[in-house]
Amino acid sequence: MISEQTRKRLKNQSEILRTIRRKGSTSRSFISTSCGIRKASVTNICRDLVDRGSLNEKTPGFYRSEIELSSEYWRSLAIFIGSEEILATIVDHNGKSYEEWTQKMENQKSPESIVSLIVKLINKASKFKKNFVGIGISVPGIINAEKGICLSAVNLGRWHDFPLVAEITKRLPEDSPKIVIENDANAELMGNHWFGGFEETLDNSLYISLGEGIGCAQLLEGKIVRGRHFSAGEVGCLPSGNEKRPCSCGKMDCLQTYCGEMGIIESVNRNSQSPTSHSISELCQLAKNDPAIKKQLDYSYQPLVQQICTMVALTDPAYIVVGCSESNMDVIVPKILAAGLKEQLRWADNEHIPVLAGLHPIKSGTLGAAVSVFKQAFQNEPQIQYS
Ligand SMILES: [Zn+2]
Repeated sequence: MISEQTRKRLKNQSEILRTIRRKGSTSRSFISTSCGIRKASVTNICRDLVDRGSLNEKTPGFYRSEIELSSEYWRSLAIFIGSEEILATIVDHNGKSYEEWTQKMENQKSPESIVSLIVKLINKASKFKKNFVGIGISVPGIINAEKGICLSAVNLGRWHDFPLVAEITKRLPEDSPKIVIENDANAELMGNHWFGGFEETLDNSLYISLGEGIGCAQLLEGKIVRGRHFSAGEVGCLPSGNEKRPCSCGKMDCLQTYCGEMGIIESVNRNSQSPTSHSISELCQLAKNDPAIKKQLDYSYQPLVQQICTMVALTDPAYIVVGCSESNMDVIVPKILAAGLKEQLRWADNEHIPVLAGLHPIKSGTLGAAVSVFKQAFQNEPQIQYS
């Protein structure tokens, strides 16, 4: 049972670490003022963190020296489960990526095969670097992050209540770093929030991930909205049309069959006078100079615009961030969505909601897996021993 004094000190320590993370290199007196923690306590806690290697003094031994998080200490192994491969990379608290490893996935994406690929990646990375603050995994499914369980993952096959963290942990040595898992869209939004150059402006934001499927996540006052069943943001399979387009979930006419990559290509070809099959990247490139294709794209994204309108009306975000799987989409898709929203959301006439192009989803998802590790570590840093 930890004492009230220890509990308070841990809370202060967590607040101090978060402040230094946001501010970068800073002084103890700034921390004291901005966190509302007594100078003596800040000094005490920082001294312990410096001794442990978690913080660096810019001028060692000098009381007024600025302090910063140690990028040698604050490193996470970030793992991203993509559609064809699993990627692992070492990320520090500044979002800098170091070494990277990948494992191709077989067609059979059973939980067991994915666990064994992840274990291989962790073992490779551990040979390279001994200590991580933790291991973060971005999972394309509905997950209970607290319990480390993957409740379902339609695009990986029939996963059901799979104890992902426990299954990986039991295949690793006992002293391995702690593993945290995060839903992919949530991870992507967290990656953009910390490392996309937007920072606090995304504290109240809505994120839309556009790839083969459609993901969505939301930050409310800086916190990820998870929902009662951990499925907040599962918009990809909302009913959206009547053309009888089959979805990987087994149902028809889900939003992603219209506004996922393949859905957009199908819509544009269906409505063009001279249909030619293009990739989504080519379509966006062509639309820059061809008003007819641009018009088709505008039209094809309308089902998504409709759904985002409902989300905006419900949650009133300050920003919408779009993660596009192709860089050619970045210059055109956010604009299409912004124009569509402006048209539909009449109450927002004077101040329309900015739609920003975020980082590539693989990049933001990987960074976000690291963010989930750091966030947890700021709270669970080893307890300071003191009398
Ligand atoms: Zn579906």
